Amino acid sequence: MITLQVRKERVGPVLGRHPWVFSGALQSLPDEIPAGTPVKLTDPSGKFLAQGYFNSYSQIAVRVWSYDENEKIDEKFFIKRIERAESIRKKYVANTKTDSYRLINAENDFLPGLIVDKYADYLVIQCHTSGIEAWKKEIISALAKTLKPKGIYEKSDSSSRKVEKLDEQTGLLFGKMPELITIKENGFKFLVDIVNGQKTGFFLDQRDKRQALVKYAKGKTVLNGFSYTGGFSVYALSGGAKKVVSVDSSADALELAKENIKLNKLAGENCEFVCQDAKQYLRSAPANKFDLIVLDPPAFIKDRKKKEEGIIGYKNINEAAFKILPESGILATCSCSAHLSLQEFRYLLSSSAGRAKKSAQILESYTHGIDHLGILPFTEGEYLKCLFIGI
Ligand code: SAH
Repeated sequence: MITLQVRKERVGPVLGRHPWVFSGALQSLPDEIPAGTPVKLTDPSGKFLAQGYFNSYSQIAVRVWSYDENEKIDEKFFIKRIERAESIRKKYVANTKTDSYRLINAENDFLPGLIVDKYADYLVIQCHTSGIEAWKKEIISALAKTLKPKGIYEKSDSSSRKVEKLDEQTGLLFGKMPELITIKENGFKFLVDIVNGQKTGFFLDQRDKRQALVKYAKGKTVLNGFSYTGGFSVYALSGGAKKVVSVDSSADALELAKENIKLNKLAGENCEFVCQDAKQYLRSAPANKFDLIVLDPPAFIKDRKKKEEGIIGYKNINEAAFKILPESGILATCSCSAHLSLQEFRYLLSSSAGRAKKSAQILESYTHGIDHLGILPFTEGEYLKCLFIGI
């Protein structure tokens, strides 16, 4: 195996088990090796530190996937990783009421660049790096053997692939895939459109936040802003909401939201669906109409260089929500921008509340659920924040 030496002053993070090694941390870069090539990392004295795969000649050169010098990278290696990840989800997430979850959370499950989401009996994979692309055959075979899914679909269409100069790859890789999959989450049923839906089809990362909403919903008029396929709407209705208005700019997402509400036998005249820019909707909504507002927008900060712009976006929608909420109203507000920390989110929200002349108290604070677990040093992998705020 090719050995790469880590500079003395850059050994610390590798010892601290951070999964990324930047090209500047290496003594020298190897000649002409393809992405995905297994490499061994040592300190300047030649002592083994970790092994991973070579990824690129710029930025993140190596992604670490093992601290065992003797671990061989082959199909068995992927089976071991998958079994470890699955056992955590089986113990703490899966039960008779929930059959869908993130199975492999990339770096955080020691498979850098790989996402696998389980939707009932089907799997959706996303390969974010050229290094992971190189091992796709072994990964698919390992997933098929370990989990025996009915189908595996690839949805590698994220913008991060552009950085790696990879084309989009989507399509069926194994078995069959129905047009819509019915999943179970906390006892509710949801239809998931893997092929045409956003991301891998459903926002599994909001499971615990959706559940948390139930207790606030009784008798409330709820605005579910950026509703997608109605996740928060279903939970709010089940909690006894008087009315739920789901707003999203995607007509397809709203169609599925209607179906999901029907599927859970919650449909009625108290459900309204509005296909509109949620920012506009919020600006023109009358004061005191809603007493519970959920805001779960797409990432407003996609690029670190455009952070200020994104922060203004968050400030504006939250200010608009604070303005129209009555005293004792509740705002459940989220950000999935990795470039925004929980502290920064809290800070911008306090400015929005101040401008709306509201005093805000944090009732609950959430980040990722167990299936989106994170390894300790890898703060770069964190993205989701959700605060339940009472005013
Ligand atoms: N809360 C949802 C997930 C929201 S994902 C759930 O629990 O499943 C973000 C959603 O915002 C997507 O459905 C997307 O279509 C929608 N969206 C993006 N920009 C929008 C805009 N300007 N106005 C309204 N909806 C928007």
